[in-house]
Amino acid sequence: MTRPPSNPASTRRIVIVGAGFAGLATALHLGRLGAGSITLLEGASSLGAYASGRNAGLLLQCSGTRVWRRFFSVTRRYFENHPTTSFRATGSWQLGSRTLLEELQDAHVATSLRSGAECVRDLPILQGSDLDHALWTPSDGVVDPLDLLAHYADQVTSQGADIRLGQPATEIRRDRSERLVVVTPSSEVRADVVVNAAGAWARNLGLQAGGMDLPLRPLRRHLFSYDCPSNPGTPHQPYVWDQSRDFYLRPLADGQWMYCLCDEEPTTALDHALAPAIRERSRERRQREVPRLVSARETRAWACYRTKTPDGHPVLGWDPQCPGLFWVAGLGGGGMSASWELGRWAARILLEDPGSDIEPYLSAVEPQRFASPARGHGDAR
Ligand SMILES: Cc1cc2nc3c(=O)[nH]c(=O)nc-3n(C[C@H](O)[C@H](O)[C@H](O)COP(=O)(O)OP(=O)(O)OC[C@H]3O[C@@H](n4cnc5c(N)ncnc54)[C@H](O)[C@@H]3O)c2cc1C
Repeated sequence: MTRPPSNPASTRRIVIVGAGFAGLATALHLGRLGAGSITLLEGASSLGAYASGRNAGLLLQCSGTRVWRRFFSVTRRYFENHPTTSFRATGSWQLGSRTLLEELQDAHVATSLRSGAECVRDLPILQGSDLDHALWTPSDGVVDPLDLLAHYADQVTSQGADIRLGQPATEIRRDRSERLVVVTPSSEVRADVVVNAAGAWARNLGLQAGGMDLPLRPLRRHLFSYDCPSNPGTPHQPYVWDQSRDFYLRPLADGQWMYCLCDEEPTTALDHALAPAIRERSRERRQREVPRLVSARETRAWACYRTKTPDGHPVLGWDPQCPGLFWVAGLGGGGMSASWELGRWAARILLEDPGSDIEPYLSAVEPQRFASPARGHGDAR
């Protein structure tokens, strides 16, 4: 591993590129730990222009690996204790075979196995859908992603960090004294540490800085909302995630439903364009999965990127090739619900003081794990 700068942490200048959940949560914890002066450079002119502001807002605890489950449960506790995060414990239904749902259960999260019929009684919109078994998790819930971003941003600025919007990092180079310099169209910011929290752009940014070529893959996913007056959703109802057929459905505040067909396709054009024929695909899938939603009127359709690593875990740690470059990337499909705890891990690792609770997991998240031939290619999340 490349060692971090040798000056004391409290005097360091830290520049974080990207102010999504990765960048903001890391900044928040670095600030709490007194890690020096912090500047966030965000290329977009507002917060939440990409994955962090365009996600489904679901917090699902019984999913993913042990690492993700730790992120989710600790982050959930934080949300519950901070009303301005906008968290609401609506409960969730996961659907699938009994064996699959039993595998998802977690000793640390209260759940109960129920019949598919019980789930339909709770969510009549699922009538006509072919349901097997259901897993009820009352402590799961939902968040408004933009409210959560605003919550983090408020905390970060009140700690004294500087969030600069509309400031894309166009180059990362070194000055004569080998200090990192982050260049934007209107400024040059010198830094002891640059945190790469650039989401779908993190791989390119890392390469540009002379860092490791990390296998980060942005995968496009679409979300739809539908107005269905015959079966209006209410915001206090639970959401449902069918793990066998791969779709989820979330009731929204205005009687509408959010629907996702859990698509994920690699793409190089990191824009917000919808895939051709995605509406037809959605219609076909709803016909089979949620027939009551087939004739509902579409009110919105949008797409964004979930950036994944081959083993499904995020990348948190120092770049092995570029001194001073630190990665917080590859948050996959759980970055919002993991954000608080993931940011704490990132900050502790950056400060070289992970503590006994994080230490056992360092090798599962460090960038270095991709330096040797691929290990573990399971899709953790
Ligand atoms: C459709 C969809 C649904 C999802 N649903 C859920 C869900 O229900 N629950 C959940 O927990 N997670 C969900 N996720 C995942 C979650 O949204 C992501 O894991 C998380 O937002 C990733 O955060 P990030 O900060 O890494 O990336 P981003 O939010 O993309 O932030 C990266 C930021 O870096 C900025 N940037 C990039 N390059 C530069 C540069 N050169 N200079 C300056 N700034 C730069 C970008 O503008 C961007 O704002 C979903 C994702 C998608 C796409």
